[in-house]
Amino acid sequence: MVSRVIPVDPFDLVIFGGTGDLARRKILPSLYRRLASGQMPDGAHIIGAARSGLTDDEYRDFVRESVTDQVPADQYDAALLDRFLGLVRYIPLDAIGTEGWADLAGALRADMVQAFYFSVGPALFGPLAERLHDHGIARPETRIVVEKPFGHDLESARALNAVLAAAFHEHQIYRIDHYLGKETVQNLMAVRFANVLFEPLWNAQYVDHVQITVAESLGVEGRGAYYDRAGAMRDMVQNHMMQLLCLIAMEPPSHFEPDAVRDEKLKVIRALDPVGPEDIVRGQYRAGPGVPGYVDVVGTPGSDTESFIALKVHVSNWRWAGTPFYLRTGKRLRTRVSEIAVTFKDPPHSIFGHETRRRGNVLAIRLQPDEGMVMRVTIKEPGPGGMRLVEVPLDMSFAEALGEDGRNFPDAYERLIMDVIRGDQTLFMRGDEVEAAWAWTDPVIAGWQARGARAMPYDPGSSGPDDALMLMHRDGRRWREIEG
Ligand code: NAD
Repeated sequence: MVSRVIPVDPFDLVIFGGTGDLARRKILPSLYRRLASGQMPDGAHIIGAARSGLTDDEYRDFVRESVTDQVPADQYDAALLDRFLGLVRYIPLDAIGTEGWADLAGALRADMVQAFYFSVGPALFGPLAERLHDHGIARPETRIVVEKPFGHDLESARALNAVLAAAFHEHQIYRIDHYLGKETVQNLMAVRFANVLFEPLWNAQYVDHVQITVAESLGVEGRGAYYDRAGAMRDMVQNHMMQLLCLIAMEPPSHFEPDAVRDEKLKVIRALDPVGPEDIVRGQYRAGPGVPGYVDVVGTPGSDTESFIALKVHVSNWRWAGTPFYLRTGKRLRTRVSEIAVTFKDPPHSIFGHETRRRGNVLAIRLQPDEGMVMRVTIKEPGPGGMRLVEVPLDMSFAEALGEDGRNFPDAYERLIMDVIRGDQTLFMRGDEVEAAWAWTDPVIAGWQARGARAMPYDPGSSGPDDALMLMHRDGRRWREIEG
């Protein structure tokens, strides 16, 4: 199968924070890959803008290094890289001063799509928005891209939304949650809404529970200071896991269009029940053989920030009343894996008398490492000897089903940046969605703070604290293994 690549119109993309880590590791390599695919035209201009006083050529050296570091050797092509570098330039600019703004205004082409990627800390979102406006750079068609974290709580998210709204309309603001750019996450919508098979079963009558796991094997190295202020609830649950939950639980939108999809996601967030203390387990990894503990890495003795959290969540609406959603995410766990597992109820009656165990089907949607879906079904164990049942996986690995295309999905950032250029907001969070997610998150955090409940220690390389296992055991259920 050969993917169809539809080239986007020529554009000017300004990367504020163009010398930062995100630009180096994600944004620039993604743009190179889109040029390689034929989606990004040679008429595109990429303008790095940051505080460092670099020349165009010095910045091109930075870009060259970023691409050679991040792009696997078999996708690297020296001639293509030269072509890419020809599209790149640099403007030294101060987000909170006046330096560089006139140069930037002069470098932009009037008749092009113009997008501004705010790849800087959130404290600079307001100053950047203001200056784009004051220097007459912002136009009604201008698009801005803002990174996570979008706020620390409801109040700060509202303040950020207000600051952006003072200079831009909502349809110009692209709030990135890179999980939404993952191929499998979009596939969730295709599986649900382009097949007749699943939707009739997709409700509390047939679904026993849903598990969403985002496990990481790495610790918080390199992000300690930020992470210690955030913790797993703010860093993962409020945004990424909430988005996955929405896509699983939402009603079918009338069209696959930005506001139709986002309206349905918002309804899910607003239908979430508050989470009581008995339904939350927080953990923090301790030191293990050759692995420093969380507090050693962040350098804050006594820190109570959670590097692991498990929650049981209810979506209180007609479709889902009574079906729990179990969410779990953490650092330094056994392996790196992200998956959503929808566990269906047992058949109501077993006609195979001696087979007392009921077996619910499970649809597991794997986001990483290898994207795909597995459906657990029960069949007869082959051979003579009566009707013995066995569970087998119907494995739909995309790599096998789709050949090359299933192996080389574009990185989430590639898709999302091209969506910005195409003006498609479907996979970006709307301001009210983000606020609703914080409105649900804040009381959960305030609750454990008020109770003084401390995070439970867990061993690096484990599945998290034992209490997380109990969260499901006491409901007569179990977590799926965290395995690669
Ligand atoms: P970074 O510290 O590596 O880079 C920050 C960039 O901002 C640099 O280019 C710096 O020159 C520029 N900058 C700082 N002050 C400036 C000013 N006054 N005027 C102009 N430029 C200024 O940060 P990063 O890791 O690249 O992160 C950027 C944003 O992306 C942050 O909001 C971060 O939370 C978010 N983010 C980063 C990652 C990641 O993997 N690095 C992942 C998700 C989200």
